Amino acid sequence: MKKYKSACSMDCWDICSIIAEVKDDGSLKISGDSDDPVTRGFLCQKGYVSANYFQDPERITEPLKRTSDGWQILSWDQALFEISEKLKSILSSNGSQSLIHYKDAGHGGLSKNIDSAFFNALGGVTTATGNLCWGAGMKAQQLDFGQVYSHYPMDMLNSQCIVLWGKNPMDTSPHMVPILKKAASKNIPILLIDPVKTASTSLASHHYPILPGSDGHLALAIAKILTDKKLIDLHFAENYCLGAEKFIHALDQFSIEELVSATGLSISQVHELAELYGTATSASIFLGYGPQRNRNGCRNLRLIDALAALSGNIGIEGGGVNYANHYINQWIDRNHLLNDSEQATGLPTFPQPAFADYVLNKPLGDIQGIFVTLANPLVQLPDTNRVIEAFKSIPFRVVIDLRMTDTARMADYVLPCTHIMEESDFLMSSMWHNFFTYTDQVVEPTYNARHEFDIFHSLARMLDLNAFTSKYPNIPDYIAKSIKPLCQKLNCSPEELIGKRSFFPGNEIPWRNRDFETSDGLFHFYIPGSDQDFFSAQTKDASYPLHLVSVHSRYSMHSQHFSHRPESELPTVSISTVSLGNIEASEGDTIKLISANGELKCTLAIDNSLPHNVIKVTQGWWHKNGSVNILTSQKLSDDGEQATYNDCFCRLEKI
Ligand code: SF4
Repeated sequence: MKKYKSACSMDCWDICSIIAEVKDDGSLKISGDSDDPVTRGFLCQKGYVSANYFQDPERITEPLKRTSDGWQILSWDQALFEISEKLKSILSSNGSQSLIHYKDAGHGGLSKNIDSAFFNALGGVTTATGNLCWGAGMKAQQLDFGQVYSHYPMDMLNSQCIVLWGKNPMDTSPHMVPILKKAASKNIPILLIDPVKTASTSLASHHYPILPGSDGHLALAIAKILTDKKLIDLHFAENYCLGAEKFIHALDQFSIEELVSATGLSISQVHELAELYGTATSASIFLGYGPQRNRNGCRNLRLIDALAALSGNIGIEGGGVNYANHYINQWIDRNHLLNDSEQATGLPTFPQPAFADYVLNKPLGDIQGIFVTLANPLVQLPDTNRVIEAFKSIPFRVVIDLRMTDTARMADYVLPCTHIMEESDFLMSSMWHNFFTYTDQVVEPTYNARHEFDIFHSLARMLDLNAFTSKYPNIPDYIAKSIKPLCQKLNCSPEELIGKRSFFPGNEIPWRNRDFETSDGLFHFYIPGSDQDFFSAQTKDASYPLHLVSVHSRYSMHSQHFSHRPESELPTVSISTVSLGNIEASEGDTIKLISANGELKCTLAIDNSLPHNVIKVTQGWWHKNGSVNILTSQKLSDDGEQATYNDCFCRLEKI
């Protein structure tokens, strides 16, 4: 039996360390690394399924080309030749900017960034800005702190009060659960702020089911109570912050009643929450990726940051506003990784959530081709119907993927890539912990799949991109040069990181020295205005009275694990009997959800824990079952070009 150190490559907080054992009969055993302080010997179901996915019969096994008779299998040489000829023609007639490279976070391996390096070698192409998941929150923390960092995972145990704000670790960050349970065993209050009851409600001492999008109102209400009760850290506010005085002054324009009313909670609930958070000697906030998926998403997070700063919970053990963690990212040579220096200036970009409008509003012929890597935009982008129309309008479409996603199905060429068990790489969590993780090749490529590095290297040779092929001769060299700053920081060679999960020290308690990375070195308070929009978190359109919240599944990373669902299965929408009103429908009925963007058939489930007129559905369903994003719009958040999935309003009809 041979043992390998591998890792989970999914877009997850935990980035687990995996032990893969190849038995003498060739079979594989996957387990969580029991020596790792975060993974603790277990993986979630998504992790087990994904790690074994390399032998899935549904994998794409050969390069494919769409023809009028269906998919035709091509040799790699033929597929890459045809694609390179088409690229040559587009480059000479319309230029590289007429190509879109659409990528996302389908695999966290460093070497997968060779796609961007290749397109920059062409002079740069059209790319997306902003983000579907976390753009508004990233922008918020960059504005407030200057950078986005999280505390060391075990620091949670130094906290005297833990707030899970729109976060469901039971389903989306299960390795936080043992730490939370340990905190609970010490009688540390765990406060869950979430419109919907989730599996994590069982971990919480208190659940506050606020209305979706009212997170900023709640943060302000708590800040107002703490200010009135003099439970604020004036020393921190006066010495390390910009705008603290204005923020405190701005609180006067709001009454507690109007703020609390916007949240859907009672005054006593908000006072209880403020008391628990404000009187703790150290209180930490752990944010999920729900509060920012609103039109006011950036403001929501800035007000939560402001609450933590006002109460003196920044830069202390057991404190912080933990949203994401870009500490290790800073020690990667992005210029080498992405080949940025080869980009022309002024390249066209589009806000990622508004892909469809961007493409469809362009003059005919301006966009000649699209390459999709590490992404399934036809499911994950909002406004599915427009996205399909936009994607189909592009004359030349190439998708690289492991399986026949809804996006791949509509491509002209589909190229099969290798699976994490078939390649060596490095991974890191940009969302939580500070471990830099090596993942070893465990098996030979199972089918006729190729690593993206080989695919783009071959294309570069066919396009005579000699500077690219000599700059990036092979994967080990590509990675070694990209992690040079990281190795200097750790005082080691790239080879010394191979086979290991390396802790990256130095930022266990972010902002401990109050050295914020804003332009003036201060924490920046967001100053709330009393504009009308502040109190319009909820729909005013009586045709669509139900507020839809689309949550992450315990069983799928975005759309990645929905491929095996039977076609007959419909997404389940949950609603309370009160919200059903006069509609005569009951548990298990097939109903129709209708928004301004489209209609979706669902199976009805009754959940009387949901706030009035709030409905819940799981995101990630493929087209065969019904994509939830048929209902969502391309509207952007207030800043950070974030998709506003949770700003979706519907009505429900019985079929
Ligand atoms: S999805 Fe997350 S929790 Fe599950 S195995 Fe992968 S990294 Fe670990």
